[in-house]
This record gives sequence, C-alpha cells and structure tokens, in this order.
Amino acid sequence: MILFKRSVDLHNYLDIQRKQGIKTGFVPTMGALHGGHISLISGAKKDGNLCISSIFINPTQFNDSADFKKYPVTLENDIVVLEAAGCDVLFLPSVPEIYPQGINAPGHYDLGTLETILEGQYRPGHFQGVCMVVHRLLEIVKPDNLYIGQKDYQQCMVIKRLIRLIGLEKMTQVKISPTLREPDGLAMSSRNMRLNDEERKNAVAIYQTLCFLKDNIEHGELAELKSKAKTRLTKKGFKVDYVEIADAATLKIINQWDGKQNLVALAAAFLNQVRLIDNITIN
Ligand code: AMP
Repeated sequence: MILFKRSVDLHNYLDIQRKQGIKTGFVPTMGALHGGHISLISGAKKDGNLCISSIFINPTQFNDSADFKKYPVTLENDIVVLEAAGCDVLFLPSVPEIYPQGINAPGHYDLGTLETILEGQYRPGHFQGVCMVVHRLLEIVKPDNLYIGQKDYQQCMVIKRLIRLIGLEKMTQVKISPTLREPDGLAMSSRNMRLNDEERKNAVAIYQTLCFLKDNIEHGELAELKSKAKTRLTKKGFKVDYVEIADAATLKIINQWDGKQNLVALAAAFLNQVRLIDNITIN
C-alpha cells in the first residue's frame, strides 16, 4: 500500500494510473476502522478497482466539539487492517491539505430538505461539512467509483445530491454497501469503541427497535407505532433524538402508510455521551 500525505502527490500519481486505463475506487473514512469499512474496501477490490482509501477526521462535520475531540484514533491498526484488506493507496491528509482556505468558510451546498430533517435537524451544519470534505476529496481523487455505506442512509442521499450539484455524475458512480453488523445486530461503528460494557449490552436495542418497527408496521396511521418504538429505546437508557419512518427514496417522513410505498426506519439516540445511528429498509 502506498501512503500519501500531500494531495498534489496523490493527484499526480492517480493521473498516471488513469492514463494507463486503470479504474479507481475510493473509500473515504474517518479511521478507527472496523468490518464495515473493510467491506467497502473489499467491494472496491472485487469490482476490479485500484482501491484508494482516506483517513481524515473532518472537523467541519462535527457540530459537537466534544464529539470531535473524543473521536477514536487507531491509525497504526488502521494501516495494518487496510493492507490486509488489499487497499492499494492510503491518503492521510492534514487539515490544511483539505482546507487550504481554513475551516471556517461555511459550506454553501443546496441540500433542500435533507438539511432540515433527521440528521440535518439534530446536527446543524453537519451535512455542509460532509459536502465540503467529500467535494475536496473527489477533486483530488477523481474516482470512477465511490463506495459508501448504507449505515449513513441520509449521508448517502446527500453525497448523491452533492455529486449532481458539482457535476460529477458522469465521472463518479456511487456504490452503496449494506450495513455490516456485530453478531447481536448492532451496526458496526467507530463510536462503538466508546461504549462501556453495560452500554455495549444495551446498544443493540437501537437495531431491535428498528426491527420492531419493521415487524409491526401496518398500513394506516404510524404515530402509535413510532411512539412505542421511542419508549422501548428510552427504557433501555437511550436519550432519543428521533425514531422515524420515511420514504426510502426521498426521506419524506411518513405518518400514514399506504402499505405499498418503500420505507426506511431510522433512529438516532444517545447512550450517555455516545450518539448512535442506524436504519433498516422496509419493502
Ligand atoms: P466513517 O469512518 O464513519 O466516516 O465511515 C466511512 C464509510 O464507512 C461511510 O461511507 C460509512 O457509511 C461506512 N460505514 C460505516 N459503518 C458501516 C457499517 N457498519 N457497514 C457498512 N459501511 C459502514
């Protein structure tokens, strides 16, 4: 695996690869890698790409500075894991490499209602930060394929919209990979490392609650079902931001289901200081 720290060097290296007709697949991450990340790397390799991954804890997407400061860093292990997974190139930029103008210039991406619902509502500015970093990374890497995880359902929609906004839809195909889970069902996440034993045991309730929604949904009014789901999480010690059911294609919140529309159930909740998110589709 070749490691680059400077964007100009990576850019030049990838230009040479592209001229030789080599197809590129990009997996951006914030490190503290787990099986979910590795499934994206494996997907990129299986599709025959030169696989480029990046590790960059993006300061502009943290609306909570304590969350940013406590974000896990496991760089040495990440490098070992990436090499073992067959990653070809690792990009490890500094903040000035990504933000040459500084981090305070706000994003200006028109994300429509994606910015005001669910994660957008509870994490103001978060998706502008995501767009800033992904825009810059895409400019540097110019991948043929971009691999992202369904675990961050709304982020997938934001990134697809970003790619249209910046006119890269002909250059870069977005590939969305299913959520990898621990044996008990908890979605793999870098933030799981911050859970103590007791919290880790209770954390699976977030997935179980989504399954409860999926198993019990019936056409018609959904308010009572959503309220029961919230109560389940609260009883397990979560402070709930939202438990919602939305249209799978638009993320419009659904309160009345016709029994046919494809849906996604999404939840975000804190276990003490750790905020977890998860989702499952309902077809
Ligand atoms: P992060 O390092 O959290 O920014 O995540 C980097 C990429 O990995 C994003 O595209 C995530 O959606 C994806 N990802 C995170 N967790 C999982 C998971 N459990 N399964 C599949 N993909 C994931």
